[in-house]
Amino acid sequence: MLLRLPTSVSEAQEYMTEGAVPIGGATLVWATWQRDGFPDRSMSLRELPEANTIEPEALGAAVVLSRIDDRVPEVLRRAAAGVGTGAVRRTATVGGNIVGSTLRCLLPAALVLDARAVILEPEGVTETDLAEVLAKRHLLLSLRWRTPVTSNYVKAAAEPGGPSPLVVAAALHRVDDGRTLLRVAVRSEDEVFSESAECHGDAADAEDLLRTLRNGSLGRLPASAGELVGRQVTDLLARTADR
Ligand SMILES: Cc1cc2nc3c(=O)[nH]c(=O)nc-3n(C[C@H](O)[C@H](O)[C@H](O)COP(=O)(O)OP(=O)(O)OC[C@H]3O[C@@H](n4cnc5c(N)ncnc54)[C@H](O)[C@@H]3O)c2cc1C
Repeated sequence: MLLRLPTSVSEAQEYMTEGAVPIGGATLVWATWQRDGFPDRSMSLRELPEANTIEPEALGAAVVLSRIDDRVPEVLRRAAAGVGTGAVRRTATVGGNIVGSTLRCLLPAALVLDARAVILEPEGVTETDLAEVLAKRHLLLSLRWRTPVTSNYVKAAAEPGGPSPLVVAAALHRVDDGRTLLRVAVRSEDEVFSESAECHGDAADAEDLLRTLRNGSLGRLPASAGELVGRQVTDLLARTADR
Protein backbone atom coordinates (compact mmCIF):
# COMPACT_ATOMS: atom_id res chain seq x y z
CA MET A 1 0.00 0.00 0.00
CA LEU A 2 1.30 3.43 -0.97
CA LEU A 3 0.55 6.00 1.76
CA ARG A 4 0.11 9.52 0.41
CA LEU A 5 0.75 12.47 2.76
CA PRO A 6 -0.41 15.61 0.96
CA THR A 7 0.87 18.95 2.27
CA SER A 8 -1.48 21.07 0.15
CA VAL A 9 -5.10 20.87 -0.97
CA SER A 10 -4.03 20.53 -4.61
CA GLU A 11 -1.87 17.50 -3.73
CA ALA A 12 -4.78 15.96 -1.80
CA GLN A 13 -6.99 16.54 -4.83
CA GLU A 14 -4.46 14.80 -7.07
CA TYR A 15 -4.22 11.77 -4.73
CA MET A 16 -8.01 11.64 -4.44
CA THR A 17 -8.27 11.50 -8.23
CA GLU A 18 -5.82 8.59 -8.31
CA GLY A 19 -8.13 6.70 -5.92
CA ALA A 20 -6.30 6.99 -2.57
CA VAL A 21 -8.56 5.82 0.29
CA PRO A 22 -8.74 8.27 3.25
CA ILE A 23 -7.14 7.05 6.44
CA GLY A 24 -7.14 8.65 9.88
CA GLY A 25 -5.52 6.82 12.79
CA ALA A 26 -6.42 3.40 11.30
CA THR A 27 -8.07 2.31 14.57
CA LEU A 28 -10.99 0.94 12.55
CA VAL A 29 -9.60 0.15 9.11
CA TRP A 30 -6.46 -1.73 10.13
CA ALA A 31 -8.19 -4.92 11.22
CA THR A 32 -10.47 -4.88 8.16
CA TRP A 33 -7.56 -4.33 5.79
CA GLN A 34 -5.55 -7.09 7.42
CA ARG A 35 -8.50 -9.45 6.94
CA ASP A 36 -9.67 -8.34 3.48
CA GLY A 37 -6.50 -6.94 1.96
CA PHE A 38 -4.95 -3.47 1.79
CA PRO A 39 -5.94 -0.87 -0.83
CA ASP A 40 -3.26 0.06 -3.40
CA ARG A 41 -3.22 3.66 -2.17
CA SER A 42 -4.33 5.48 0.95
CA MET A 43 -4.10 9.11 1.98
CA SER A 44 -3.61 10.58 5.45
CA LEU A 45 -4.35 14.29 5.98
CA ARG A 46 -1.97 14.56 8.94
CA GLU A 47 0.47 16.83 7.04
CA LEU A 48 -2.27 19.02 5.57
CA PRO A 49 -2.60 22.32 7.52
CA GLU A 50 -6.31 22.74 6.60
CA ALA A 51 -7.09 19.39 8.27
CA ASN A 52 -5.17 20.15 11.46
CA THR A 53 -6.76 23.36 12.73
CA ILE A 54 -8.10 23.58 16.29
CA GLU A 55 -9.89 26.91 16.65
CA PRO A 56 -12.93 28.31 18.52
CA GLU A 57 -14.99 27.86 15.33
CA ALA A 58 -13.16 25.14 13.37
CA LEU A 59 -11.73 21.66 13.86
CA GLY A 60 -9.62 19.75 11.33
CA ALA A 61 -10.51 16.21 10.28
CA ALA A 62 -6.97 14.92 10.92
CA VAL A 63 -6.89 16.14 14.53
CA VAL A 64 -6.56 13.23 16.96
CA LEU A 65 -9.25 13.22 19.64
CA SER A 66 -6.80 13.60 22.56
CA ARG A 67 -5.65 16.99 21.14
CA ILE A 68 -9.14 18.52 21.32
CA ASP A 69 -9.03 21.06 24.15
CA ASP A 70 -10.79 24.17 25.41
CA ARG A 71 -10.17 26.07 22.19
CA VAL A 72 -13.38 24.42 20.93
CA PRO A 73 -16.86 24.57 22.59
CA GLU A 74 -17.45 22.40 25.65
CA VAL A 75 -19.85 20.07 23.85
CA LEU A 76 -17.20 18.99 21.34
CA ARG A 77 -14.42 18.78 23.91
CA ARG A 78 -16.47 16.55 26.20
CA ALA A 79 -17.60 14.37 23.30
CA ALA A 80 -13.99 13.75 22.26
CA ALA A 81 -12.90 13.08 25.86
CA GLY A 82 -15.59 10.40 26.19
CA VAL A 83 -14.55 8.28 23.19
CA GLY A 84 -13.07 4.85 23.95
CA THR A 85 -9.81 4.59 25.88
CA GLY A 86 -6.85 6.94 26.12
CA ALA A 87 -5.01 4.80 23.56
CA VAL A 88 -7.91 5.12 21.08
CA ARG A 89 -8.15 8.88 21.62
CA ARG A 90 -4.42 9.34 21.01
CA THR A 91 -4.79 7.71 17.56
CA ALA A 92 -8.38 8.14 16.29
CA THR A 93 -9.18 11.28 14.29
CA VAL A 94 -12.18 13.59 13.93
CA GLY A 95 -12.69 12.47 10.30
CA GLY A 96 -12.52 8.78 11.20
CA ASN A 97 -15.03 9.26 14.00
CA ILE A 98 -17.59 11.32 12.09
CA VAL A 99 -17.37 9.68 8.68
CA GLY A 100 -16.01 6.24 9.44
CA SER A 101 -17.21 4.97 12.82
CA THR A 102 -20.64 3.62 13.70
CA LEU A 103 -20.68 5.03 17.24
CA ARG A 104 -19.80 8.59 16.16
CA CYS A 105 -19.80 10.20 19.61
CA LEU A 106 -18.72 13.48 17.96
CA LEU A 107 -21.74 13.60 15.67
CA PRO A 108 -24.39 14.80 18.21
CA ALA A 109 -21.93 17.52 19.33
CA ALA A 110 -21.35 18.64 15.74
CA LEU A 111 -25.10 18.64 15.09
CA VAL A 112 -25.96 20.92 18.02
CA LEU A 113 -23.22 23.33 16.87
CA ASP A 114 -24.99 23.31 13.49
CA ALA A 115 -21.55 22.53 12.07
CA ARG A 116 -20.87 22.68 8.35
CA ALA A 117 -18.52 20.20 6.76
CA VAL A 118 -15.64 21.42 4.61
CA ILE A 119 -15.03 18.65 2.10
CA LEU A 120 -12.71 17.95 -0.79
CA GLU A 121 -14.19 16.83 -4.07
CA PRO A 122 -12.40 16.14 -7.35
CA GLU A 123 -13.41 19.68 -8.44
CA GLY A 124 -12.09 21.35 -5.28
CA VAL A 125 -13.01 22.37 -1.73
CA THR A 126 -16.67 22.98 -0.89
CA GLU A 127 -18.98 23.14 2.13
CA THR A 128 -21.96 20.94 2.85
CA ASP A 129 -24.06 19.63 5.74
CA LEU A 130 -23.21 16.67 7.92
CA ALA A 131 -26.07 14.52 6.61
CA GLU A 132 -24.63 14.65 3.13
CA VAL A 133 -21.12 13.85 4.35
CA LEU A 134 -22.42 10.74 6.10
CA ALA A 135 -24.60 9.64 3.20
CA LYS A 136 -21.91 10.10 0.55
CA ARG A 137 -18.81 9.53 2.72
CA HIS A 138 -17.12 12.63 1.39
CA LEU A 139 -13.48 13.36 2.20
CA LEU A 140 -13.81 15.60 5.25
CA LEU A 141 -11.21 18.36 5.66
CA SER A 142 -12.71 20.15 8.66
CA LEU A 143 -15.81 21.22 10.57
CA ARG A 144 -16.89 24.87 10.98
CA TRP A 145 -19.53 26.41 13.24
CA ARG A 146 -20.51 29.66 15.00
CA THR A 147 -19.59 29.90 18.70
CA PRO A 148 -22.67 29.04 20.82
CA VAL A 149 -23.71 30.98 23.93
CA THR A 150 -23.11 27.79 25.90
CA SER A 151 -23.21 24.03 25.35
CA ASN A 152 -23.06 20.76 27.25
CA TYR A 153 -22.67 17.01 26.64
CA VAL A 154 -23.29 13.87 28.63
CA LYS A 155 -22.64 10.22 27.84
CA ALA A 156 -24.37 7.64 30.00
CA ALA A 157 -22.38 4.70 31.38
CA ALA A 158 -22.22 1.75 28.98
CA GLU A 159 -23.67 -1.57 30.06
CA PRO A 160 -21.32 -4.48 29.28
CA GLY A 161 -22.56 -6.22 26.11
CA GLY A 162 -25.45 -3.75 25.86
CA PRO A 163 -26.30 -1.17 23.19
CA SER A 164 -24.08 1.86 22.68
CA PRO A 165 -24.52 4.31 25.55
CA LEU A 166 -26.97 7.17 25.41
CA VAL A 167 -25.46 10.52 24.46
CA VAL A 168 -27.14 13.92 24.86
CA ALA A 169 -25.59 17.08 23.37
CA ALA A 170 -27.16 20.52 23.65
CA ALA A 171 -26.24 24.08 22.72
CA LEU A 172 -27.83 27.52 22.90
CA HIS A 173 -27.24 29.86 19.98
CA ARG A 174 -27.91 33.54 19.49
CA VAL A 175 -29.13 33.80 15.90
CA ASP A 176 -28.76 36.82 13.59
CA ASP A 177 -32.24 38.26 14.24
CA GLY A 178 -31.60 38.29 18.02
CA ARG A 179 -33.55 35.13 18.84
CA THR A 180 -32.05 32.39 21.02
CA LEU A 181 -32.24 28.86 19.69
CA LEU A 182 -31.76 25.61 21.60
CA ARG A 183 -30.42 22.63 19.66
CA VAL A 184 -30.44 19.14 21.15
CA ALA A 185 -29.08 15.93 19.61
CA VAL A 186 -29.38 12.49 21.14
CA ARG A 187 -27.78 9.18 20.23
CA SER A 188 -29.99 6.39 21.44
CA GLU A 189 -29.35 2.78 20.44
CA ASP A 190 -27.18 3.82 17.45
CA GLU A 191 -29.81 6.22 16.09
CA VAL A 192 -29.19 9.98 16.21
CA PHE A 193 -32.12 12.36 16.76
CA SER A 194 -31.86 16.14 16.62
CA GLU A 195 -34.30 18.98 17.22
CA SER A 196 -34.28 22.70 17.86
CA ALA A 197 -36.64 25.07 19.66
CA GLU A 198 -36.78 28.81 20.21
CA CYS A 199 -36.16 30.16 23.75
CA HIS A 200 -38.17 33.05 25.07
CA GLY A 201 -36.26 33.56 28.32
CA ASP A 202 -39.05 33.39 30.91
CA ALA A 203 -39.40 31.09 33.92
CA ALA A 204 -41.68 28.61 32.15
CA ASP A 205 -39.23 28.24 29.32
CA ALA A 206 -37.68 24.87 30.20
CA GLU A 207 -41.06 23.09 30.19
CA ASP A 208 -42.15 24.84 26.97
CA LEU A 209 -38.88 23.97 25.30
CA LEU A 210 -39.04 20.33 26.34
CA ARG A 211 -42.62 20.09 25.08
CA THR A 212 -41.58 21.53 21.71
CA LEU A 213 -38.68 19.08 21.48
CA ARG A 214 -40.96 16.16 22.37
CA ASN A 215 -43.42 17.20 19.66
CA GLY A 216 -40.62 16.63 17.17
CA SER A 217 -38.37 13.60 16.69
CA LEU A 218 -37.26 13.56 20.35
CA GLY A 219 -40.78 12.36 21.18
CA ARG A 220 -39.68 8.91 19.93
CA LEU A 221 -37.00 8.58 22.62
CA PRO A 222 -37.40 6.13 25.51
CA ALA A 223 -38.38 7.70 28.87
CA SER A 224 -34.84 7.42 30.36
CA ALA A 225 -33.43 9.40 27.42
CA GLY A 226 -36.19 12.01 27.79
CA GLU A 227 -35.21 12.50 31.46
CA LEU A 228 -31.56 13.04 30.55
CA VAL A 229 -32.55 15.57 27.87
CA GLY A 230 -34.62 17.40 30.51
CA ARG A 231 -31.65 17.61 32.89
CA GLN A 232 -29.28 18.87 30.19
CA VAL A 233 -31.71 21.52 28.98
CA THR A 234 -32.38 22.73 32.53
CA ASP A 235 -28.62 22.92 33.15
CA LEU A 236 -28.06 24.98 30.00
CA LEU A 237 -30.84 27.43 30.82
CA ALA A 238 -29.56 27.83 34.41
CA ARG A 239 -26.11 28.70 33.08
CA THR A 240 -27.51 31.44 30.88
CA ALA A 241 -29.89 32.93 33.46
CA ASP A 242 -27.31 35.56 34.58
CA ARG A 243 -26.00 36.45 31.11
C1 LIG B 1 -11.54 0.17 21.76
C2 LIG B 1 -12.35 1.16 20.98
C3 LIG B 1 -13.32 1.90 21.64
C4 LIG B 1 -14.08 2.85 20.93
N1 LIG B 1 -15.02 3.59 21.59
C5 LIG B 1 -15.69 4.56 20.90
C6 LIG B 1 -16.61 5.42 21.57
O1 LIG B 1 -16.85 5.33 22.77
N2 LIG B 1 -17.25 6.38 20.83
C7 LIG B 1 -17.01 6.54 19.48
O2 LIG B 1 -17.58 7.42 18.86
N3 LIG B 1 -16.16 5.73 18.85
C8 LIG B 1 -15.49 4.76 19.52
N4 LIG B 1 -14.62 3.97 18.86
C9 LIG B 1 -14.49 4.16 17.43
C10 LIG B 1 -13.49 5.27 17.21
O3 LIG B 1 -14.14 6.48 17.30
C11 LIG B 1 -12.99 5.05 15.80
O4 LIG B 1 -12.10 3.94 15.90
C12 LIG B 1 -12.26 6.22 15.31
O5 LIG B 1 -12.92 7.42 15.44
C13 LIG B 1 -11.90 6.03 13.87
O6 LIG B 1 -10.94 7.01 13.64
P1 LIG B 1 -9.64 6.71 12.84
O7 LIG B 1 -9.02 8.03 12.61
O8 LIG B 1 -8.79 5.67 13.45
O9 LIG B 1 -10.30 6.14 11.49
P2 LIG B 1 -9.72 5.08 10.48
O10 LIG B 1 -9.74 3.72 11.07
O11 LIG B 1 -8.42 5.55 9.93
O12 LIG B 1 -10.81 5.21 9.32
C14 LIG B 1 -12.13 4.78 9.56
C15 LIG B 1 -12.97 5.12 8.33
O13 LIG B 1 -13.10 6.51 8.21
C16 LIG B 1 -12.68 6.94 6.93
N5 LIG B 1 -12.02 8.25 7.11
C17 LIG B 1 -10.97 8.57 7.91
N6 LIG B 1 -10.70 9.87 7.84
C18 LIG B 1 -11.59 10.39 6.94
C19 LIG B 1 -11.81 11.70 6.44
N7 LIG B 1 -11.07 12.76 6.81
N8 LIG B 1 -12.81 11.88 5.55
C20 LIG B 1 -13.59 10.83 5.14
N9 LIG B 1 -13.42 9.56 5.59
C21 LIG B 1 -12.42 9.37 6.49
C22 LIG B 1 -11.72 5.87 6.43
O14 LIG B 1 -11.66 5.83 5.03
C23 LIG B 1 -12.36 4.63 7.01
O15 LIG B 1 -13.40 4.19 6.19
C24 LIG B 1 -13.86 3.03 19.54
C25 LIG B 1 -12.87 2.29 18.89
C26 LIG B 1 -12.11 1.37 19.59
C27 LIG B 1 -11.04 0.61 18.84
